[in-house]
Amino acid sequence: MADKQIQDTPEQAAFREQARAWLADNRPGDPPVRLPQSALEIMTQEQLAYLQAWQKSACDAGLVGCDYPVEVGGGGKTDCQRVANEEMLRARTPYFPNIIGLGMAAPTVFYHGQDALKQRLLPRLFSGEDIWCQGFSEPGAGSDLASVQTFAERKGDKWVINGHKVWTSLAHFAEWMILLLRTDKSHKYDGLSYFVVPIRSALGKGVTVRPLIKMTGETGFNEVIFEDLEVDDAFRLDELGKGWQVAMTTLAHERGAGQLVTPRAGGMTNKSSHITTASALVRLAQATASDGATAADDPLLRDRMMQQFIREAGLAANQRRARVPALQDNPMRLSLQNKLLMSEIAQDTAGLAMDIQGAASSLYLGDPNAPAGGQWPMAYMNSFGFTIAAGTSEVQRNILGERVLGMAKSK
Ligand SMILES: Cc1cc2nc3c(=O)[nH]c(=O)nc-3n(C[C@H](O)[C@H](O)[C@H](O)COP(=O)(O)OP(=O)(O)OC[C@H]3O[C@@H](n4cnc5c(N)ncnc54)[C@H](O)[C@@H]3O)c2cc1C
Repeated sequence: MADKQIQDTPEQAAFREQARAWLADNRPGDPPVRLPQSALEIMTQEQLAYLQAWQKSACDAGLVGCDYPVEVGGGGKTDCQRVANEEMLRARTPYFPNIIGLGMAAPTVFYHGQDALKQRLLPRLFSGEDIWCQGFSEPGAGSDLASVQTFAERKGDKWVINGHKVWTSLAHFAEWMILLLRTDKSHKYDGLSYFVVPIRSALGKGVTVRPLIKMTGETGFNEVIFEDLEVDDAFRLDELGKGWQVAMTTLAHERGAGQLVTPRAGGMTNKSSHITTASALVRLAQATASDGATAADDPLLRDRMMQQFIREAGLAANQRRARVPALQDNPMRLSLQNKLLMSEIAQDTAGLAMDIQGAASSLYLGDPNAPAGGQWPMAYMNSFGFTIAAGTSEVQRNILGERVLGMAKSK
């Protein structure tokens, strides 16, 4: 919906009208298969095919990459992605499958890649024809990302890569990976480099992707092993040894503090799916009855649901503040607060749903007696990932304390 405090420019208003009209006629129908609760958990070709077709048609209609220049496959507009996102949210469209490509790889390639690379990679990234993944974390490098050990050794105009990445979401479908690795073992931060790597064409020829099964039963992320993979120097984005600075562009966008707005479509197409909101909790509580009363009549549960409404309202207000240019003195302040709040509110909402369901919360997807199709236990288990991915809550609090509030550095 249009923000009351930030008026559309004439360009945005015309674009909003066009986007709304197109979505009214072209919103995709119900999916033929159950969709996961997030794009990071896409597991089957059927799920991917439905979501890729949606991203391609939205891209062809100009709703993806709106603010990128036309030369790299974008829409050449000014601050219109936000408008497209609002209209897609309003129309309750499915999400896009190329979430890592759009949110992290695209801005990084755009700001740091050579023109030829941008023109080659970005159009298929926007259309969703090429899925991307992010090869940052390793068994010994997560919060302390600069400890990555995957190593690239120079051989003429090629690099030979060996190492082990982990928690790599969507690697099982990805054509391309953004890859942070080490080119110099004698320096920690200044020994890192940043590549884009075509992993799909290298499967079985230097790249192995092994799925990791989560407690939810989903296999959204993977281990990726590199064994003597040869990559052209043309795929390096950094000035040699300055990969950490390039990674900062990726992380800023991953945490919502980047300059380019990520194309993002909210809403679920599964009738049985829930978005973890306080309104959904109320519906659940009203439908959960025992001894002639519903869970919505329980004063303690009512109090906790009300607290979730208040926190959601606070988050929504802070998200609006994050779009006011005058408040962007430190780009990390509001975006990091919002990442922290959003992930912790979602976790508490799903936890409250488990309490509302009581013993029935142990019934999972596929159980005909599970309330709400067993979606809430899955949302609860997945919610722990939200407070870990893109930097754990503890790390976000450290960054806010040190780099926003100017407090002493943590030990
Ligand atoms: C759903 C999901 C998807 C992911 N997808 C990807 C992906 O596609 N690509 C990718 O590269 N990675 C991905 N990750 C990995 C993610 O980035 C890491 O899990 C995260 O950075 C934390 O690293 P770690 O797991 O090694 O935990 P660790 O860094 O080992 O942390 C363990 C615990 O110690 C705490 N801790 C660590 N350092 C500090 C400190 N300085 N102060 C206070 N507490 C601290 C942490 O908060 C945490 O509780 C994903 C993770 C999840 C959950």
